[in-house]
Amino acid sequence: MKFLLVLALIASAYAQSPCDNIRTRAQWGSRATSLTWMATRPPSGFAVHHTAGARCSTQALCDTQMRNIQNFHMNTNGWADIGYNFCIGDPGQVYEGRGYGRHGAHAPGFNARALGHCFFGEHTSVLPTAAALSNTQSFIDCSRARGELTSTHWVSTHRNDRQSATACPGNALFNQVSTWPRFNSNP
Ligand SMILES: [Zn+2]
Repeated sequence: MKFLLVLALIASAYAQSPCDNIRTRAQWGSRATSLTWMATRPPSGFAVHHTAGARCSTQALCDTQMRNIQNFHMNTNGWADIGYNFCIGDPGQVYEGRGYGRHGAHAPGFNARALGHCFFGEHTSVLPTAAALSNTQSFIDCSRARGELTSTHWVSTHRNDRQSATACPGNALFNQVSTWPRFNSNP
């Protein structure tokens, strides 16, 4: 048992940060797009969304979801790319949407000043998986450590954008995120 405990401690000490394990656009099969850099980089906020669509339980299904959402945002909404900077599904791996430093299309008041991060699924009454929640919190921290968020950045949700009228990211997920460090209800 002691041996296993030591192994577990070593594994946790050397566990990859979510920033080292991002599923890239090339890996999930993104379309080629033209993206705009944020005027001010790094941004001062991190904004949480849900897709209000299907969840995904495997990497293959999350890859498909990314392509589906990108097609919807580009073909139906007429946007330049998938609206979010990053997304995360049930397995807990972070997906690169527009990526770091790119002007988003996820909340009018936040697009120029926050990374938009979506959880796949409808989270009005059901929370995302523990892996998705904890990896998102770690992702916020490692993004800040890498200079992709300001040192004093805020964390908030789509419904806290004064320019949006939306229930996103769902009551269950909103209640969870509102307990996180740096949460700001009026950023
Ligand atoms: Zn949203």
